[in-house]
Amino acid sequence: MMKEIKFRQEYDDIKIAEISLPEHIFLPLNRNAGAVNLEVGHQINKFDEVVPGVISPVTGEIKEYLKMYIDGIETDVVKIATVENGRDEGDHDRNNITDEPDKNFHEKLKKSGYFLENVIDSDCDIVVSAVETDPLCSVSQQILRENRKDLNQNFDLFKKIFNRKKINFAVPEHLFDMVWKLQSQGVNVWKVEPNYPNGIPEILINSAIENKALKSPLYLKLEEFLNICDAAVTGRPNLKKVITVTDINGMRNINVIKGTPLSHILKDSDIRSAGKVVTGGPLRGYANFDLNIPVTDITDSVYVQYEKDVVRAVNNQCINCGRCNGHCPVNLSVNLLTRYSEFSQFENCRDLGVENCIECGLCSFYCPTGRSLVQLIRLAKSEIKNLEGEIEQ
Ligand code: SF4
Ligand code: SF4
Repeated sequence: MMKEIKFRQEYDDIKIAEISLPEHIFLPLNRNAGAVNLEVGHQINKFDEVVPGVISPVTGEIKEYLKMYIDGIETDVVKIATVENGRDEGDHDRNNITDEPDKNFHEKLKKSGYFLENVIDSDCDIVVSAVETDPLCSVSQQILRENRKDLNQNFDLFKKIFNRKKINFAVPEHLFDMVWKLQSQGVNVWKVEPNYPNGIPEILINSAIENKALKSPLYLKLEEFLNICDAAVTGRPNLKKVITVTDINGMRNINVIKGTPLSHILKDSDIRSAGKVVTGGPLRGYANFDLNIPVTDITDSVYVQYEKDVVRAVNNQCINCGRCNGHCPVNLSVNLLTRYSEFSQFENCRDLGVENCIECGLCSFYCPTGRSLVQLIRLAKSEIKNLEGEIEQ
């Protein structure tokens, strides 16, 4: 019988290191934001708006507009050649934090790309989470460790901005002792067993509704929560993203400028001749064939395999063992719906609730014949979307 594996996510203290400025960044553009009005060759400054809501994290020159597949989605991107100019006055700085929002905080949040009036006006519960969403990722735990002294101020500020008496804070149980005192300040600190996939937002939110009786809770990752607090004070967004890079030699946490290409991260991490580079964790992430693919707001981890360790995708036949179903946290009939997907019977996939799949990857991991189950599920989801689009037209 196959041994049950628990994906324990209890990581050591791995300090977050800064890395060098890349020569180019590739900044994703929001297609719906409006027309791009900066020509190729235009000199751009850090914090300038490229298109509405997209702020340049570097000073440099616009080199090219192009398309890239980022996390499986074709995305418009601008390539910017960077200019080394040190740290600008007013850069994001967690030392600026105060627990008193000034009266312009609305404007400051908007200027930083946060349009959160509906949260302020609603009475939904808010859940801040320091539980990792990807396996082999220690971003949230490390941010918690490195910011624990300021968390009380941040929660006070956040409560004032969002007009809440209580905020919920989900933390991995091994770090509870670091933050339990927040409970005396209107923070409902709640322990979560740090086993994947407990930190995936859908799982955490369901558990909050069922076990804590929270009302349509809004989920925020700890990093995002801190960035919102900073933006409300400084009026500027954080231009960087913390990520975990893992290869055979171990794990490191780094703070990189958004838009930094994977090639620069590998070079800085002294990783040569990578066979497969996955963003988003080994179980649920995307393999990247283009190393210009950039770090975005949602990149938490980069996982590298060397050529000899890469397991090639296969599509062996299902032997009906039922392991995929047994490990699915949302109780889908995975074997059945993936076979429907394989034979392009996407409407049957919809009837079996494929949309409820949270893409945790556990079914693929446990499948003894190595079927590419998550890929078949993603295919079904995207085909259903296309079908629904055709019906609407
Ligand atoms: S990826 Fe597989 S195990 Fe995870 S929710 Fe989807 S069907 Fe279930
Ligand atoms: S785990 Fe793999 S072989 Fe077993 S039922 Fe699921 S898809 Fe079929």
